[in-house]
Amino acid sequence: MLLKTNNASALEPIRGHGWWLRRWAGDRILAGITGRETDVASLLQQSARPLTTVAAEQVHGASVAIVERAHAIVDVLPGCDALLTSLPGIALLIRTADCLPVFFSDPSRNVVGLAHAGWRGLAAGLLPRVVAAFQHTYHITADHLDIAIGPAIHACCYDVGPEFVARFGAYIEMREGHRTCNLIAAATDQLQQAGVRSQKIMETGHCTACEIDQWFSLRREGPSTGRMTSLIAVKP
Ligand SMILES: [Zn+2]
Repeated sequence: MLLKTNNASALEPIRGHGWWLRRWAGDRILAGITGRETDVASLLQQSARPLTTVAAEQVHGASVAIVERAHAIVDVLPGCDALLTSLPGIALLIRTADCLPVFFSDPSRNVVGLAHAGWRGLAAGLLPRVVAAFQHTYHITADHLDIAIGPAIHACCYDVGPEFVARFGAYIEMREGHRTCNLIAAATDQLQQAGVRSQKIMETGHCTACEIDQWFSLRREGPSTGRMTSLIAVKP
């Protein structure tokens, strides 16, 4: 198992406008996430020109939707947990509160993707399917992808039952008598096995359940808590 070096400084707060992966995303791509204090309207205001939003329905599955044609540009695309686009001005959105928001970009081709990966999505192979969709749809090979894993629940706060051992054996760890699961490491390994270079996978280092003042955590606060919205777009 590869343990990633955290890179907390990669996520920069912009007052009133959420948290941004500015250094990761470069000049042509906007990528960020709301915190407790910001909403998606604040994120959208960071774009100099208007963005059209397309969200994934999020069904904890492994379906990837390509947003390239006008008919695909609807508020919510049903049945998918990941979205890809090369269209400038389209903001892809997902919502999380502990699950992993996974940002994808090929900065040389300006193609972007965003995935909502919880344990079910990881078990279903969502992330390798996103990598495969870059190849099939855009002829972008895995070694060209930059990936950022946003704030999500870390092993420190993710106690799991014995049924996780069969699915996530290598990522289960006993901590002070608790059985915990490291979804970040599972995601990182799946991406590397799909051909993404380890040095191109960045993890922001924020645990949603530890940093409850900053993020929403379903585990810590229950299902009625809020959700963070992640956004990625090629600038219009
Ligand atoms: Zn934690």
